[in-house]
Amino acid sequence: MNKYVYFFGDGNADGSSDMKELLGGKGANLAEMTNLGVPVPPGFTITTEVCTYYYKNDDTYPEGLEEQVNEALSKVEDIMGIDFGDEEQPLLFSVRSGARASMPGMMDTVLNLGLNNETVKGLAKMADERFAWDSYRRFVAMFGDVVLGIKPESKDDEDPFEVELQKVKDKYDAEEDVDLNVEALQKLVENYKGVIKSRTDVTFPEDPRKQLWMAIGAVFSSWNNERAIAYRELNNIPDEWGTAVNVQTMVFGNMGEDSATGVAFTRNPATGENKFFGEYLPNAQGEDVVAGIRTPHPINKEDEVEDGPTSLEREMPKQYEQLFEIQKKLEKHYHNMQDIEFTIQQGRLWMLQTRNGKRTALAGIRMAAEMVEEGLIDKETALLRIENPENLNQLLRPVFNPKEKQKVTDEGRLLAKGLPAGPGAATGRVVFNAPDAVEWKKRGEDVILVRLETSPEDIRGMDAAEGILTARGGMTSHAALVARQMGKTCIVGAGTLEINYKEHKMTVPGGKVIEEGDWISIDGSLGEVIEGHIETQPSEVIQVLIDQTVSPEDSKDYHIFNEFMTWADDFRELGVRTNADQPDQSKAAVAFGAEGIGLTRTEHMFFGGNRIDAVREMILADDSAGRKKALEKLLPMQRDDFKGIFEAMEERPVTIRTLDPPLHEFLPHTDEEIKDIAEKIGVTEEKVRNKIESLHEMNPMLGHRGCRLGITYPEITEMQVRAIMEAACEVKEAGGDPHPEIMIPLVGNVKELKLQEEVTRKVAELVLEEKGIDVEYKVGTMIEIPRAALTADEVAKHAEFFSFGTNDLTQTTLGISRDDAGKFLPEYVERKIYKKDPFASLDQSGVGKLMEIGVEGGRKTSPDLKIGICGEHGGDPDTVEFCHRIGLNYVSCSPYRVPIARLSAAQAVLKEQGKTA
Ligand code: ADP
Ligand code: MG
Ligand code: MG
Repeated sequence: MNKYVYFFGDGNADGSSDMKELLGGKGANLAEMTNLGVPVPPGFTITTEVCTYYYKNDDTYPEGLEEQVNEALSKVEDIMGIDFGDEEQPLLFSVRSGARASMPGMMDTVLNLGLNNETVKGLAKMADERFAWDSYRRFVAMFGDVVLGIKPESKDDEDPFEVELQKVKDKYDAEEDVDLNVEALQKLVENYKGVIKSRTDVTFPEDPRKQLWMAIGAVFSSWNNERAIAYRELNNIPDEWGTAVNVQTMVFGNMGEDSATGVAFTRNPATGENKFFGEYLPNAQGEDVVAGIRTPHPINKEDEVEDGPTSLEREMPKQYEQLFEIQKKLEKHYHNMQDIEFTIQQGRLWMLQTRNGKRTALAGIRMAAEMVEEGLIDKETALLRIENPENLNQLLRPVFNPKEKQKVTDEGRLLAKGLPAGPGAATGRVVFNAPDAVEWKKRGEDVILVRLETSPEDIRGMDAAEGILTARGGMTSHAALVARQMGKTCIVGAGTLEINYKEHKMTVPGGKVIEEGDWISIDGSLGEVIEGHIETQPSEVIQVLIDQTVSPEDSKDYHIFNEFMTWADDFRELGVRTNADQPDQSKAAVAFGAEGIGLTRTEHMFFGGNRIDAVREMILADDSAGRKKALEKLLPMQRDDFKGIFEAMEERPVTIRTLDPPLHEFLPHTDEEIKDIAEKIGVTEEKVRNKIESLHEMNPMLGHRGCRLGITYPEITEMQVRAIMEAACEVKEAGGDPHPEIMIPLVGNVKELKLQEEVTRKVAELVLEEKGIDVEYKVGTMIEIPRAALTADEVAKHAEFFSFGTNDLTQTTLGISRDDAGKFLPEYVERKIYKKDPFASLDQSGVGKLMEIGVEGGRKTSPDLKIGICGEHGGDPDTVEFCHRIGLNYVSCSPYRVPIARLSAAQAVLKEQGKTA
């Protein structure tokens, strides 16, 4: 029979950490910890296969599951020496979800399962009466929420169990939960059961086994709740995976002052510093720390603040010592930073979870680099540890300008302080709930999501917000965890904020009121909440690399970044170039590691200063002679542009594309402009208008553009080639080493390329002869029309290089105009017609296939043909990996994405070799 249930306990487990697919991350790691000899409360894991079965078979279970559950349950009872459902000494369970990839807070957990009106008395005898009834009322509420799905009815509504709690507190004159006496708690249990009955028409099940099976079903069902689906969507987790269910003996952190519960990281998840770091609460249960209900205490003595709560290290030195040893052991075993959950029950330490911890990008790089130094991992592993190379962006993101910040502080606009949970600077307008965040963002507003604490329901709102601010919770709270993963700026535990959801406002110390829609700024590195909008400035890495206002030796961030990037360069095979049209952009790209320019769009130079007049004159000219006259004016300007770029790029290759867009893009539009240009070139306004009329196209993207311009007006190509080659000669004459690569756009038929190649070579040779200088140059083409890819073997006869222009290639392959896609493409992506926006991440099976055909054809004719990509896709990690696989020579992307492309290219090689993080 199939094995559906995996037992763990007392030093022996059926499973292990490499069984995540079957047991989920949590179950696999509980098994692994058990086998490592770490103290874990015994229990068992029901596999993800059962989840899949459950969905395929109308919420039923496979045969044999019940027997296997019963068998495992007896084993637990044997170890614990007490029985599930026993009225004298009841064994209690938690029922926990656990997917393959960790989905923090996504799935629901039920604690204290097994309590009813009888067993509660047994528990009272085992511990104390108040504790027993407190556990019972928590269980009934959790059961109502998680298993029976009782939630607030609207976004401003309060949780019905919270409402009952408040009522009972008022009645018994209790300030805090801990002030509730046994009688009050008993009343609460009764009222909670009333809520369940009235909201669902289900009677709270007193039978522990019934409770267990209902809870198991609820965990399986929660795989498809709205927030789990949202999380999977945001993190590209397949729907088919399913979740496992873990049933585990309860341990209690709320059994008095010698009990506690906490969460810790083996290294600091915000900065990466190699220091054990964590938070705990004395006399509290599981969720309390993560849910941010009470502000937690530090674990380490040195993290204590003046007048703040005492650390675990001081309160329970023995348990601290044991915890410290266990975390060291776990990190060493997993070779990765661990995020751990623990509970101390009456002086005895239990581990409840371990997993690879989420981290900020900088922390991730720092940890990986330091683990290499410590000999814990190799460089390959370090490079793969940055799961999503996009996250490198976090290092390049702006921070607040310190002068502005100081001014604000002097003006007394500092509203509150909290914990710096997600570094960076964010400014936006305040909203108080997740749906509003989503809606405002849709309208184009930048928002800061302000909550008492966040919960998994808020995930879409958090994603929409520029930054997240909570009044409660610590560095390990849900808000902090999710923000770090999303790379959001985040402050948690700003306890002085009085937030009023109902009235959409918050009051800060001193009585100032901040209403919905007001601007605030949050400094996620310092934990400061500030009124109003604050200017930002470049990050430290940018200041070193681009602005050169900080010297490399003075920046630790830069040092780590640079070292890491150097490793990436050692492994990658793909070249990385940039798309740049200006000398300063080119310099920035080189600083980021670009090895050349993959695309210079010459037309971007046509707009500056009075150039547009000359361009318009050219377009409006009646004949070739008129065009030539105008082009002569443009020649020196273009030559200077190219010189600047060649100088900036030094010996690196520079690919320059000849004129590409439809001419009408340069035409005057307003009456004013028409009058102006008519005067300047001495024709009537009437004539200008007629010309505009005649240039009108029904479908300009497929119209008179690209090489079609150069074929009908060869003098344009002639001028551009002359400008390029004269610039190259001048730079070379001055001691430089330019390598121009002239690229013909929008070729579909080899004859088009042949015609343009002839013009190009003729002029280039002429210039070299005139100047008496030898400059090496290449002539190649873009592949951006399906026909060019399909006939690449022919096209290659006239091209020294190919560059896939995947923006147009995507438009022409999919038959989708990028500019008109906004009306339907988002829905297409939502409905998974395309997995991702095909203009951001390459459609590998369609457009990618054409690329493969193009590569094969091109290399059939010229085995050494140099091939690159220059669309927006060139900086997308998945696309970069694809380009490596199909054997391109380089990718080209915007300057700020160069580091992302470098890392992606290295990861592509490592993944191909079967390496994993
Ligand atoms: P999540 O995946 O959201 O972290 P968990 O299954 O880890 O959910 O459980 C939520 C909380 O309940 C955690 O703080 C965990 O430590 C606590 N918890 C889970 N199982 C037990 C148990 N058997 N005894 C005590 N606390 C538990
Ligand atoms: Mg949870
Ligand atoms: Mg957990």
